[in-house]
Amino acid sequence: MSRNRAVLTAAALTALLTVFPATGSQAADAPSAGERIAKALRDTPVYVDKAYTEAVPPSRQRELTQQIKKTGLPIKVVLTPLTKGDPFNGEADTLASVLHDRLPQRELILITTDGVFTDSLNGYEWPADTHQTRDAVAATGFLDEMRDAGLADLTSKAVQLVAEGNGTEVYEEATEDLGEGVPEQPTPTKKPEGSAWPVMAAFMGLALAALTTVALVAYRRRHRRRTSAMTPALGAARAAEEAEVRRKAEAEVVALGEAVRTADAATAPDLSRALDAYAAAGKVLDEARDLTDLAGALALAAEGRAALTPHPSLPLCYFNPLHGQATTRTTWRRLGHRESVTVATCPTCTTTLATHRTPDSLTELTENGHLIPYYEGQSIWAATGYGSLPGDGMASRVARGDLGRDKDRETSA
Ligand SMILES: [Zn+2]
Repeated sequence: MSRNRAVLTAAALTALLTVFPATGSQAADAPSAGERIAKALRDTPVYVDKAYTEAVPPSRQRELTQQIKKTGLPIKVVLTPLTKGDPFNGEADTLASVLHDRLPQRELILITTDGVFTDSLNGYEWPADTHQTRDAVAATGFLDEMRDAGLADLTSKAVQLVAEGNGTEVYEEATEDLGEGVPEQPTPTKKPEGSAWPVMAAFMGLALAALTTVALVAYRRRHRRRTSAMTPALGAARAAEEAEVRRKAEAEVVALGEAVRTADAATAPDLSRALDAYAAAGKVLDEARDLTDLAGALALAAEGRAALTPHPSLPLCYFNPLHGQATTRTTWRRLGHRESVTVATCPTCTTTLATHRTPDSLTELTENGHLIPYYEGQSIWAATGYGSLPGDGMASRVARGDLGRDKDRETSA
């Protein structure tokens, strides 16, 4: 590679890193952003960010305020976009605890937007979950009647369920028949011709990192068109969710590329494993068809990062990699299965398992339009548990074509 090319790609990388906000660097701004929202909540129980005023206009905000007053409960609603890199680092939990710290009420029920699933709400309650707030609010995302509901209706339903106080029962009932009547499967979109990733995978070291950056720019340009073509079929909510996860995955893959590029071959614990994970993450990102694939790109990026750090770390959460890095390993026996498996779990899923319930998992849209937990499917992700399960790893399976996209291309050509 010529020196000029290297300089150019370094510039491209810098530009990309500027486009993708650094993760977690602005958490220090949380107090001021939190203070602003908390202050607004002293006058009214409903806070709606500018980004959501179209979905929840002032008239609906007043209705929600009235509804909340009638319940007599200390309910506060905060509808604000959450993305990684924002003052709350895209975490509803962080937003909630910052607000809890800043609000004078000892008893507080908080309903907020979610960082990952932009069409869902989260419920929090202090000092204890007396009104089953967590389940009541989570249930709104699974009720048949709420399938096409806008944010205002969803919030109103959440307030109603919290007031009724039997959210756990509603939640269990609503999630019992998961998979019934979900929207039709989106029409598969045409693959862009050719793919840069297999070629990229042939390169190693610096060349790989630098060249892949260029491929990623091309990929992003291509994908922007693909996303808009997909939107009508997917429905705005699912598309928005996918777009957000895709952005996260792209940022993580770029970050891994940079980490690989700057890694010292002499001291990096496992540079070749990092490179394998990087190549696989790029391939998955390029060929991703849905959320389960995008989560796979995230999981591979995490695996690559782990290979570059001296301290062994756990993979992303088995139940849903979008929950973030796991903090513990837990033994879990699937309903109807005799054998138990040991999986890596995030704090939330660990708690859920401890109470003998099945954690909310990432879902896969089956060919006949049903949503099933991804681990009940046949994908490479079900086989690897996103890095939790023993056996062949994600990177080697992607490298040998287990993603199955190469086959698709042959048959559709
Ligand atoms: Zn989890």
